[in-house]
Amino acid sequence: MIDLARARELTPGTANTVHLNNAGASLPSTPVLEATVGHLRLEGEIGGYEAAARAAERVEAAYGSAARLLNCSPDEIAIVDSATRAWDLAFYAIPFRPGDRILTSKAEYASNFIAYLQVARRHGVSVEVVPNDGLGQLSVDALRAMMDERVRLISVTHIPTNGGLVNPAAEIGKIAAEAGVLYLLDACQSVGQIPVDVEQIRCDILSTTGRKYLRAPRGTGLLYVRRSVLDQLDPPFLDLRSARWTAPDRFEIQPGARRFENWEYGVAGRVGLATAIEETLAWGPEDIRDRVYLLGDTLRERLAAIPGCTVRDVGAERCGIVTFTLDGVAAETIKEYLAERRINVSVSRAPSTLLDMTDRDISELVRASVHYYNSEEELARFCEELTRLRT
Ligand SMILES: *Cc1c(COP(=O)(O)O)cnc(C)c1O
Repeated sequence: MIDLARARELTPGTANTVHLNNAGASLPSTPVLEATVGHLRLEGEIGGYEAAARAAERVEAAYGSAARLLNCSPDEIAIVDSATRAWDLAFYAIPFRPGDRILTSKAEYASNFIAYLQVARRHGVSVEVVPNDGLGQLSVDALRAMMDERVRLISVTHIPTNGGLVNPAAEIGKIAAEAGVLYLLDACQSVGQIPVDVEQIRCDILSTTGRKYLRAPRGTGLLYVRRSVLDQLDPPFLDLRSARWTAPDRFEIQPGARRFENWEYGVAGRVGLATAIEETLAWGPEDIRDRVYLLGDTLRERLAAIPGCTVRDVGAERCGIVTFTLDGVAAETIKEYLAERRINVSVSRAPSTLLDMTDRDISELVRASVHYYNSEEELARFCEELTRLRT
């Protein structure tokens, strides 16, 4: 179980603000801040490359911890600048052929879908959206019925940016594995929020960010690529980190997932990322999920009791991302009203998950996303303020 008092003590931001924008960026802990800022100071004191040499072990530790968290091997991990960049690096490495089919989800994030459309135009592949079932999650039966020998990729979002839905990633993985089809999982909102095990899910490629549920500094992202699919992928960019120039007319690509990395990176961010992943492991992904789900359910219940408030989350399993609308009040107005009272929420708009929002006829939502360090008192205060806004 999460020791709430300790979690809050280790999170200085909880003293200033009711932070319910964890799906945007979580509050980092004191050890993460110290590791990150400490490294920047060291760069100033002794030089950037010299500081990197001293931090080499801590940077390396990030790979080991990420591998433990996801249940893979450290050489199947690349660390990059963001979840989108991680996702892009793998997606644009897939050698699509005309006639290939990409199967994806209704809950897809805009950046992913824009890339599908670009690749569809470039390579003559088709992009097909698997319908949802009655509960609002990807229909596993529909996916099974859509499978044929032309399916090149199943690419879905685990937890979308705009709600509590948790797509059935492992059931999708079973279908992908049985068909021998590449499976790419956007786990940007799930890693750090719920246990994510690439062996259990059976995904081949997974992308996530540091700044959301892992509580790492901004500008960090993780890419997992299963060793057995590495050679099917052709990295879109190579440089002197991802490859070696071995003769005037020859280069050799790095053996592991680090072939997707580039030379320059923010060392301070990675030192912070290492610490943040270690903390997630120490708290325990199951315990984090249990607390986040409990808070998410509590918040949904309280919101549903507010007159004019409609909770908009769908799916059989609902996570810590809580979305709602308030009759007659624009989402931005709610966000600003709460911000004046030092409560952070965010607004999800249709263009970031266009298919889902269009289907549900929603143009904007208020998103209140909880993490394990949020308290029940904070949720109560948040709901009191909302009730006051209505009256
Ligand atoms: C936030 C988010 C992304 C993008 O992550 P970045 O780190 O901003 O690139 C991708 N997919 C989902 C589902 C997200 O919520």
